[in-house]
Amino acid sequence: MNDQTISAVNYHLNRNCNMHCKFCFATFRDIDHANSRMEEHISIIKQCALAGIRKINFAGGEPTLLKHLPTLLRVSKELGMVTSIVTNGSRLLDEAVWRSVSRFLDILGLSVDSINEHLNVRSGRALNKNQQALTEESYFGLAEKARLEGIPVKLNTVVSNYNWQDDLSHFVREVAPVRWKIFQVLPILGQNDRYKEEYLITDSMFSKYIERHKAALPNVPIIAEENDLMMGSYLMISPDGRFFDNTKGTHSYSSPILESSFDYALSEIAVSKKKFLQREGEYFNKLA
Ligand code: SF4
Repeated sequence: MNDQTISAVNYHLNRNCNMHCKFCFATFRDIDHANSRMEEHISIIKQCALAGIRKINFAGGEPTLLKHLPTLLRVSKELGMVTSIVTNGSRLLDEAVWRSVSRFLDILGLSVDSINEHLNVRSGRALNKNQQALTEESYFGLAEKARLEGIPVKLNTVVSNYNWQDDLSHFVREVAPVRWKIFQVLPILGQNDRYKEEYLITDSMFSKYIERHKAALPNVPIIAEENDLMMGSYLMISPDGRFFDNTKGTHSYSSPILESSFDYALSEIAVSKKKFLQREGEYFNKLA
């Protein structure tokens, strides 16, 4: 690993999801298949570990829909990496699923845009054909499960036209996350551009959301990711096993990692270590 290598990767394992957020920037409608074989997933995980990646975050779609997620978490831990997932939380309400995943989990990333069910139904962050959002109790219950098992919680919130006036202060204060990442909704061509007229917000609307919550939550580490900081600051792998970046407002993909090499595929995408560090991407070191 050279000193320009980014130490954390987001591996988007699958593209299916049981929710339908209109702003979802990981729909992967633009790729023709997703690897579903565990062996392929493990081969890529091994390549990441060999390349010096120290934290692996499994995302999707919804990663908990993948039956062999617990195995991937276990293998990643055995290879010495810090493990995390980003989930909408719905599947973890099932105790058996929670137990199988939490055993090998170092950090739980929970996506919570709002605890107002009406707002979540409007944005599509809901189950059963957008009819049923998770309840406030469910979100609190998930955070409590993690707390009882000593798993730090990271919250992810996308701020869009649906929720920019919402107040999440009480919820966040109670959950006391190790990190709260707040994203300005980001239109990506080929992923979520269909609804952009409906969900887009201005920089000023985003700033107001951030300022309001920073003032109410002085002790919570808030990472505000406006559109510019979200672009080119993540090392990401797609469900078909390629690196990709979003610097051109759409996904640009590398060659398949398993058919070329990790370094060659990496050289084909644009990602900035400076921006990665700017958004405090190495926060996991402080949790060790
Ligand atoms: S829950 Fe996550 S992966 Fe699923 S549609 Fe929403 S943003 Fe996309």
